[in-house]
Amino acid sequence: MGFSLPVLYSLRGDDVPATMRDKNICQLAPYAMRVENSQGRRYPEPAHPYRNDYERDRDRIIHSRAFRRLENKTQVFTQRYSDHFRNRLTHTLEVAQISRTVAKSLGLNADLVESLALVHDVGHPPGGHSGEAELHRLMRQHQDGFDHNLHALRIVESFEQKYAAFPGLNLTFEVREGIIKHSRDYLSIDHPELAEYRLLERPPLEAQLIDIADEIAYNCADLDDGYEAKLLTLPILRESLPVFDRSYRAVDRKYPAAKEKLKFNETLKRLLNALVTDLIESTRQRLARKRIRSLAQVRACPRRLVSLSERVQKEEQELKEFLFVHLYSHQNLNAERRRLTSCIRSLFAYYLRHPQSLPTFYFQQAQKEPLHRVVCDYIAGMTDPYLQEQHRQLLEN
Ligand code: MG
Repeated sequence: MGFSLPVLYSLRGDDVPATMRDKNICQLAPYAMRVENSQGRRYPEPAHPYRNDYERDRDRIIHSRAFRRLENKTQVFTQRYSDHFRNRLTHTLEVAQISRTVAKSLGLNADLVESLALVHDVGHPPGGHSGEAELHRLMRQHQDGFDHNLHALRIVESFEQKYAAFPGLNLTFEVREGIIKHSRDYLSIDHPELAEYRLLERPPLEAQLIDIADEIAYNCADLDDGYEAKLLTLPILRESLPVFDRSYRAVDRKYPAAKEKLKFNETLKRLLNALVTDLIESTRQRLARKRIRSLAQVRACPRRLVSLSERVQKEEQELKEFLFVHLYSHQNLNAERRRLTSCIRSLFAYYLRHPQSLPTFYFQQAQKEPLHRVVCDYIAGMTDPYLQEQHRQLLEN
């Protein structure tokens, strides 16, 4: 490199002044996952001089192709709708930002949390949740299935071909474990290939918080984009969602002359803040009540420890149901979804009949694995525009 690097401190570096080292270490709560206790990488690598292992994982994720492809994957609205709306990349950044706040407030490892948040959606196929459901349906016909968490693990373990020394990104154990376990539990009887991931134990709190930060991020973002798209209106929001109406009335009292859009924004900001605050405070109280003082206790606990309070969980559930009825099922979005799922269905059948049309890497994989699995992996990695482009090239002439 032609320039000198700034002086940065590693958490473990012996050259770091003791006060700085202690400060960094002391910020973590006793139940946090500490980078120096990591189970490490599949292919051992020497320590980096100025980034710890979780910071390094974060950088590998950001430099991966799967991460860049998030920009062209649908969250709720396709890009044809408007270029102001969230896509999976901007959603991912919102999850990372919320997760870091929660992690720091609870004394958790913010570097690990950031890596987990940035990687949490890389396994999503094109076409959002309906794309995932369609791929799963197609795979069921071959007595198999599709699951975006398992797909994300396959991406970081093998499909990313970037480094000369190893396949995949060679991420630390805790990031791979978090990819699998951040949103659900898997049984080893159904997934013997996941045996190394301590399936009988809960994941660290850093992984547990990702799922709820994800839900908070997309619920608030979908209200925002839905309102901007004029599919949701203020009267419907206020009438159907008491939690929204409460905040709106307070905002209206404080800024009676403000434009409706700004009052909406202020209400949404308060709602987001209230959800994140409740997540932090109720988790903190739960950890204290259960006297959780170590990672071992977190892992041994029969239930997950990061969650909203019961009252706010109920409100969040109402919010989800509202979005399902008034936004996700809206006919304007349905038409677009049907187009994408139909492309997935036709291309799946096409590649099964013409495996030689697959890129070399996937064609070679098909010598080792069932063809339907390889076809599924290939389609799942596509962005929405690439899926439609392949459909045009192969099936529309
Ligand atoms: Mg997400």
